[in-house]
Amino acid sequence: MPQHPVPFNRPLITGSELSFIRESIETGILSGDGLFSSRCKAFFVSRYGFKNTMLTTSCTDALEMAAMLIGICPGDEIITCSYTYVSTANAFVLRGANVVFADCRNDYPGIDEDSLERLITKNTKAIIPVHYAGIACDMDKIMAVADKYNLYVIEDAAQCIDAYYTGADGMQKPLGSIGHLSAFSFHETKNITCGEGGMLVINDERLLDRAEILLEKGTNRRRFLRHEIDKYQWVDVGSSFSPSDVTAAFLYAQLQHLDSVQQARIKTWETYYSTLLPLQKRGHLTLPHIPHYASNNGHIFYIVCPSPEIRNNLMKHLKMMGISASFHYVSLHSSEFYKAYNKNIPYLPQSDKFSECLLRLPMYYGITDNEIKSVTDAICTFFEANA
Ligand SMILES: *Cc1c(COP(=O)(O)O)cnc(C)c1O
Repeated sequence: MPQHPVPFNRPLITGSELSFIRESIETGILSGDGLFSSRCKAFFVSRYGFKNTMLTTSCTDALEMAAMLIGICPGDEIITCSYTYVSTANAFVLRGANVVFADCRNDYPGIDEDSLERLITKNTKAIIPVHYAGIACDMDKIMAVADKYNLYVIEDAAQCIDAYYTGADGMQKPLGSIGHLSAFSFHETKNITCGEGGMLVINDERLLDRAEILLEKGTNRRRFLRHEIDKYQWVDVGSSFSPSDVTAAFLYAQLQHLDSVQQARIKTWETYYSTLLPLQKRGHLTLPHIPHYASNNGHIFYIVCPSPEIRNNLMKHLKMMGISASFHYVSLHSSEFYKAYNKNIPYLPQSDKFSECLLRLPMYYGITDNEIKSVTDAICTFFEANA
């Protein structure tokens, strides 16, 4: 056993949360869109140029709002990656959409951009790329297909804080700034968190007016608050998506530490990579691939094992050593729910491969060199014993 167990995740606590929460309480306004919501939004404008953002209570909520906003109706189709979190698909299924699953690329778990065009039908409304582990999908290709067929692109940017895409024009753009809409998560498992939280980024300004209404439970309250009308009322569907200002204060505290958090996570990622590189050279495992157009935001460090048996045995071996490593998604096309409602289950071998062979290693702010070493030592021992 190592000196002490190594958990898979420890939620980030920066130490300045309580003082910002106190400040929020002292404003006397605790509901959504108070002082700290505004401060968070200002942060996103200045750091990433996200001109229009709305904090939500989760990324799931942001995706549900996006589905409403683009007017998804029963019978519409959306295309997304099967290897993703449930919410990417569920948000659209809730509005009656049929989800069409694309496979992953073979070199990393992002959506296979080249497969999109043949999945489009006359009912297709949107493509939902998921930037797995904060590693960008090839957005030039995706936006070109979307333009050609007049589709919306909604980036599932849940894992993408401080991650970038460099397109053919050589410009480095933050993930979340490219699609018509984007959804971020601040769940406790993400780099920056407020426990549960999210954000919708609205890049297509045509959607802005309606977004305001959906966020305000289907009313034109925002116009009222701007003194554009003398009373507000029910004008559309909507729901309650805003987090309280207390939650926003927590988030704002974390955003103040973004640079040091990112530096530390990327350093951990790089230590894993360089230490495990000899195992990749011997063919024992595959390390993450970061395409030339993508950046690394240190969200997840994963390895891909040569077979499901090896992955599962390695996971057991690590568990015996007190180390929590974790597989990731059960591909949605092979889920119970999807199979119950769909007769034609697509064959998505790359998705299946990542479901069965991918393993995520412990990764959190504050992980010590000793903890990292006990993880990499345990992996090396496993492969030496099984060579
Ligand atoms: C975390 C995550 C979500 C869900 O985020 P919540 O804030 O928990 O709703 C959705 N999609 C992806 C890809 C995620 O990683």
